[in-house]
Amino acid sequence: MTKISTQLIQGSNGSDDDKTGAVSAPLYFSTAFRHPGLGQSTGYDYSRLATPTRELLESQLATIEHGEQAFAVSSGMAAIDLVFSTFTKTGDHFIASDDLYGGSFRYFDNQKAKYLIDYETWNGQDTDQLVQLIKPSTRLIWLETPSNPTMKIIDIKKVARAVHQLRSDILIAVDNTFLTPIYQQPLTEGADIVVHSATKYLGGHNDILAGAVVVQLAELAEKLAAQLVTTGQTLDPFDSWLLLRSLKTLSVRMHAHTQNAQFLAQKLATLAGVDRVLYAGVGGMISFYLNDNYDVNTFLQGLKVCSFAESLGGVESLVTVPDVQTHHDMPVVNRRALGITPNLIRLSVGLEDKMICSQICSTPLIMLRKTRPDP
Ligand SMILES: *Cc1c(COP(=O)(O)O)cnc(C)c1O
Repeated sequence: MTKISTQLIQGSNGSDDDKTGAVSAPLYFSTAFRHPGLGQSTGYDYSRLATPTRELLESQLATIEHGEQAFAVSSGMAAIDLVFSTFTKTGDHFIASDDLYGGSFRYFDNQKAKYLIDYETWNGQDTDQLVQLIKPSTRLIWLETPSNPTMKIIDIKKVARAVHQLRSDILIAVDNTFLTPIYQQPLTEGADIVVHSATKYLGGHNDILAGAVVVQLAELAEKLAAQLVTTGQTLDPFDSWLLLRSLKTLSVRMHAHTQNAQFLAQKLATLAGVDRVLYAGVGGMISFYLNDNYDVNTFLQGLKVCSFAESLGGVESLVTVPDVQTHHDMPVVNRRALGITPNLIRLSVGLEDKMICSQICSTPLIMLRKTRPDP
């Protein structure tokens, strides 16, 4: 494969060379495509099945994740739903890492209630423990690493080896939203499925809602393709085009996110108002615990540059309080057990200038410290 930056920038170009030589990929809105004759097709018939623009995007996604086939869908949740469509049968069982996107848990619980499938959670660390959770009815292992929001790292390779040694038919899916293929390529580590909320880093500008599923096995790809044609949660041409354009800067953005986040993680660790910083070392996501003597709401209201908002992965820095936002649907006992407390703050470190980036979080904390003395 071409090096990833070159692939991201050049990989979708040249599709119009026969006609115009356009450097940037053309955008086709057409939902219907003329047939040359009876029983003949240009390769495109109707846009729920395939469109030239989405196809280019899917080919790029498959290449950068080292998969055989990718599916571009209307949101990250649609991507998760597409994966689950491959197996949800009454009595099926799956195992999920315990600290992940709150919406995924909401989805799991919904599936459990509707289809009587069952799931258990695993702490993402001890693979012997994971293997013990496997039952004859287990179909899938669902991982998110680094975990969300407490940034635990799961060793995908180790999990894949342990699980597939025991049962090659259990699928391992990894939600790769946080690190993207720039830092983590789960399919090369033995996973079977990669899922993205492309709304986050792949899109990167807080302006596209999209999702992706990438797989390696042809049989699985066929199942997913058939399901997608049936249910139709595909990504529309314009968002496909925007996402293709966003991908061109993915590598540059991810490295810049890392630089800013490393800088900020170090700064945060020195502040009196911060008890503990959780950071995986790469990527743009940081969580930290605000000291008990500091008020979360005052902290949020003191933010000058970045926004208190519920998303991540964009060029704009965003601050989230998982306990009341992303993870609020999780039972409170589970949240507390995982360390999701009311004073846990999650930062999606954007690409603003480093000085502003450090002000983002240190200024309100320093201000607070002046008005609220340490005990
Ligand atoms: C946001 C998010 C999702 C859900 O994606 P949407 O695009 O909002 O539907 C899934 N997984 C992770 C890790 C996310 O951050």
